[in-house]
Amino acid sequence: MEQRVTVTGAGGFIGHHLVKNLKQRGYWVRGVDIKEPEYESTDADEFLLLDLRTWENCVQAVDGVEHVYHLAADMGGIGYITANHADIARNDILINTHMLEASRKAGVFRFLFSSSACIYPEYRQNEADVTALKEDDAYPAMPEEGYGWEKLFTEKLCQYYQEDYEIETRVARFHNVYGPLGTWDGGKEKAPAAISRKIAMAEDVDEIDIWGDGSQTRSFMYIDDCVEGVYRIMHSEYQMPLNLGTDELVTINELVDTVARIAGKQIEKKHDLSKPQGVRGRNSDNTRIKEILGWAPSIPLEQGLADTYRWVAEQVRTAAVPGHTR
Ligand code: NAD
Repeated sequence: MEQRVTVTGAGGFIGHHLVKNLKQRGYWVRGVDIKEPEYESTDADEFLLLDLRTWENCVQAVDGVEHVYHLAADMGGIGYITANHADIARNDILINTHMLEASRKAGVFRFLFSSSACIYPEYRQNEADVTALKEDDAYPAMPEEGYGWEKLFTEKLCQYYQEDYEIETRVARFHNVYGPLGTWDGGKEKAPAAISRKIAMAEDVDEIDIWGDGSQTRSFMYIDDCVEGVYRIMHSEYQMPLNLGTDELVTINELVDTVARIAGKQIEKKHDLSKPQGVRGRNSDNTRIKEILGWAPSIPLEQGLADTYRWVAEQVRTAAVPGHTR
């Protein structure tokens, strides 16, 4: 077994959970991020605070490890990624190219890149009643502006490095990950956390704002499935990008109703059509991951949301305590 690994983005949502999981599996783990985890302390053996846009910091991040799980990225929910094309594209391209080259030079054996469903062409996602996206649907390319282009280009970079050099690369295309310890306020949060927060802050009978008309569809993957999938993809022999998401498709309105039911509140939806809603519909086709791994994410949405809502509601309660700062 490869003993020493680096997880970048270890101060973030998925990276923090991945560090915990790899520690439980017996690895020596170096976590790297520009910030510490926000909600609990890290389990990493070593945690380096580094800005990975800088070459020298990437060299330090990958020194002496066999595997690199590269999750660090400037990213956020739909509001954030549609308002910051230049910053996101520049920051992430700097991080990704330096990380890949530093890993190659350091003799890293395997490098896993966390790509995104945002690489899929918008022309395949114009209907709420979508055909689920297969890996080959990525081309002809027309990804999400900024964030999607940067992810798609880095997927290609991983392919070129694998073809031209010794390093092995793996690419997981995450579809909407949610769960406890994820960003829940401040503008970078995603729909499940944002809706949980709004409902946690609402009265027992109340109205909340929903971005768009709520008929847009998505699938959502619980964090435990994501971490398990990342580990399995890293250790598989498959070299091409793989979808990592559930195929349980819901509308945003259904997502709200589910969280309201969990919270035991009667919630009316006020649709704000001036807010960005992203593509109209998006789902993951899991045929290939099942073929390759004999496994796919399967934790039901209602189950994952119950844990997520409980955690977000607790954060809302704590933040409301006078004198509390975060
Ligand atoms: P996150 O924002 O919680 O974590 C990303 C981490 O990267 C943050 O802790 C951030 O501080 C760090 N980072 C940003 N700039 C950095 C820099 N210059 N140097 C060092 N660290 C830096 O996001 P997440 O949800 O944990 O996402 C992890 C990865 O998964 C990202 O690559 C993201 O694009 C990808 N992804 C996530 C989702 C999702 O639904 N959460 C969906 C698709 C893809």
